[in-house]
Amino acid sequence: MRATVMHNTGDVRIENVPDSVIQKPTDAIIRVTRACICGSDLWPYNLGPAAGGQRMGHEAIGIVEEIGSDVHRVRKGQVVIMPFANSDGTCMFCEEGLPTACVHLNFFGNGGDMEGAQAEALRIPNADGTLYPLDVDADDPLMPSLLTLSDVMGTGHHAAVAARVARGHTVAVVGDGAVGLCGVIAAKRLGAEQIIIMGRHADRIALAKEFGATDVVSERDDAAVQRIMELTGGFGAHSVLECVGTEQSIATSMAIARPGGAVGRVGVPHYQVVPTADQMFFKNISVAGGPAPSRAYIAELLPDIMEGRIDPGRVFDRTVGLDGVPDGYRAMNAREALKVMVRP
Ligand SMILES: [Zn+2]
Repeated sequence: MRATVMHNTGDVRIENVPDSVIQKPTDAIIRVTRACICGSDLWPYNLGPAAGGQRMGHEAIGIVEEIGSDVHRVRKGQVVIMPFANSDGTCMFCEEGLPTACVHLNFFGNGGDMEGAQAEALRIPNADGTLYPLDVDADDPLMPSLLTLSDVMGTGHHAAVAARVARGHTVAVVGDGAVGLCGVIAAKRLGAEQIIIMGRHADRIALAKEFGATDVVSERDDAAVQRIMELTGGFGAHSVLECVGTEQSIATSMAIARPGGAVGRVGVPHYQVVPTADQMFFKNISVAGGPAPSRAYIAELLPDIMEGRIDPGRVFDRTVGLDGVPDGYRAMNAREALKVMVRP
């Protein structure tokens, strides 16, 4: 079978790899019908993969092709969402709604023994706890939006939940990538009154406005902070969704959070120390977030997609086959594409 393999910085290839096989009784094999490239895939693309020959991709919808002898909640032929993290669905943390802290947690496409989803097929450990069966046809027109439940929409929602978005709140979204845009959807869905998107790309800002953004801040650094203060009566935002993961983006988030506010952090941190701890302290800012428990959010978000209230699949602005994946990475890295869907 064919799969996406990252060998080095900027070096992504489609290669023949051994067919995925059941290794444990709790495994399933899915044939991937939709996958995509994540903004977080661009970190190894620029900084180098975790291991030479890293299998890539952690977001997918597929059809169950094979199940192990101890899989009971997933059947062959079912259409399923594959969240980016593997979880057993039974441990204390899964029970508490935090499957990304599962005692059996592992991330797909991590460079270890977890296979990647930008491929024809992959092995799913703990299939009962990980996969979320859907009652739709594999070619349902809602597929792009359903695919976002594997990560990007769940992650945007997690930023909003961690930032304690509530009815009537002022929300600022740091980052105009696909996660930030899904954060706008989530903030609106949770009743935010003012939603400020920080970004500079005309097409992304246009989409953010369609998703519910009320204000746009295109300035950088101190000028951006000043502009947000002007837009919020001088106090800052109740809720800040930090969807980038750089030291600058977290510092900006602290600066624009109002006293007693909260920062929801979902950008994978590429810093060791959280900056501006003094602001965090003197403004009584809560900082929360981490890898989104996407699996746990599907039940809440799915009806809004099925009934047309939200349409996060609009973040995909390019679709490629497996052969187009290397160019998809290039295009996302060059900011030519917002998010690339893959149809193996
Ligand atoms: Zn668990």
